[in-house]
Amino acid sequence: SVIVAQDKETLIRERHLRIGRALSIAYSDAPLKIVGGEGAYLIDDAGKHWLDMVNNVCHVGHCHPRVVKAAQRQMAALNTNSRYLHDTLVEYSRRLTAQFPDPLNVCFFVNSGSEANDLALRLARNHGGNHDVITVDHAYHGHLSSLIDVSPYKFAGEGGAGCPEHVRVAEMPDLYRGRWRHGDVGAGRKYAEDVKRQVEALAHEGRQPALMFTEGVLGTGGQLVLPDDYLKHAYRHVREAGGLCLADEVQIGFGRVGSHMWAFETQEVVPDIVTLGKPIGNGHPMAAVITTEEIAATFANGMEYFNTFGGNPVSASIGLAVLDVIRDERLMHHCHDVGNRLMDGARALADRHEIIGDVRGLGLFIGIELVRDRETQEPAPDELDTVIRKLKQNHGILLSSEGPHDNVLKIKPPAPFSPENCDYFLTSLDEVLSGLV
Ligand code: PMP
Repeated sequence: SVIVAQDKETLIRERHLRIGRALSIAYSDAPLKIVGGEGAYLIDDAGKHWLDMVNNVCHVGHCHPRVVKAAQRQMAALNTNSRYLHDTLVEYSRRLTAQFPDPLNVCFFVNSGSEANDLALRLARNHGGNHDVITVDHAYHGHLSSLIDVSPYKFAGEGGAGCPEHVRVAEMPDLYRGRWRHGDVGAGRKYAEDVKRQVEALAHEGRQPALMFTEGVLGTGGQLVLPDDYLKHAYRHVREAGGLCLADEVQIGFGRVGSHMWAFETQEVVPDIVTLGKPIGNGHPMAAVITTEEIAATFANGMEYFNTFGGNPVSASIGLAVLDVIRDERLMHHCHDVGNRLMDGARALADRHEIIGDVRGLGLFIGIELVRDRETQEPAPDELDTVIRKLKQNHGILLSSEGPHDNVLKIKPPAPFSPENCDYFLTSLDEVLSGLV
């Protein structure tokens, strides 16, 4: 069927009529109709190119030709479920698990980050026979019921039903606003003490954790880099209580952090379960759970695990192409170099713009926190809103906000974001910040 192009007003009206209202529209005061993408750019219906600094999903670049070709070729050959033998599925599982330290050698393929985290929860509960979960404050781990339960970002916010009985929330290790701050070498250990407290509170009721969820860099928490040794200590406390440890790499995996493929590696730990999503398929809906032989073996308890779409040949082909591009285009190193260039530049801007309270990040996963006063750290969410609006309107740059106070400029562009893109962003940010006063 031929789809007739509609104007934006019609699309908004029709969308409101027939698509659930809980779904939001980005830049709602002036929504975009995006019809194409290339590298780090999105292209609208008028042919205008927008510099995309939001989309970590299209990790190797919008519409990367190698990924598109892999999808097209496999789509034309065959798509089935994973119950038939297929070379690509096995090759992909080999290539993917090769990216992880021992004993993380087994994968399950699913279709979204939420599905991956839900399966991880099942694996952990099945393995240890425990039910309870420890999560970090302000975290988001997915939209399934089981994951809203472990996502303070959702259950503690507007429309949320509060913290469920089986969930314990550990203090967010925030080196900018928290109890222990930048420069405190013991901060990681001290923040992890709260994980211990949660474990002890469970023990007091005769309970043990099944799983602790954490990200290697905290996304919805405000793009926060974990203090050194935080995960080392947190994992120890959870494991001593019989629980497993999960690294949610859905947002940050696949080399975005620059120094490593996975953010958990920057903390020198090996989780029991890792979940992958978003960048894994460069926009194609796929995700994975990586775990140990031992945990996978206890899950094979007689009940079959079947997933209609997970691991289908098209997804596996796409996944392989993404891994190839990351390797061949040296995207991890690129994230490292351009990310540091951006953070150095933003720190230089902080010398002239008092409103920049903190610049932090790893590779191309960066947060710039805006404050009205560096002493009181009063958040500047309205100012950030203006900055994002002006960067879009006047400079064609797409960005979004994050953090409990909605005052953190969240930066996670497609990895091909170039040094020239970086310098253009910094010049534009300088101009917009100068216009605020
Ligand atoms: N975990 C994290 C850290 C995420 O950021 C997200 C998505 N924002 C999810 C899980 C859920 O992934 P999905 O939307 O693919 O279900």
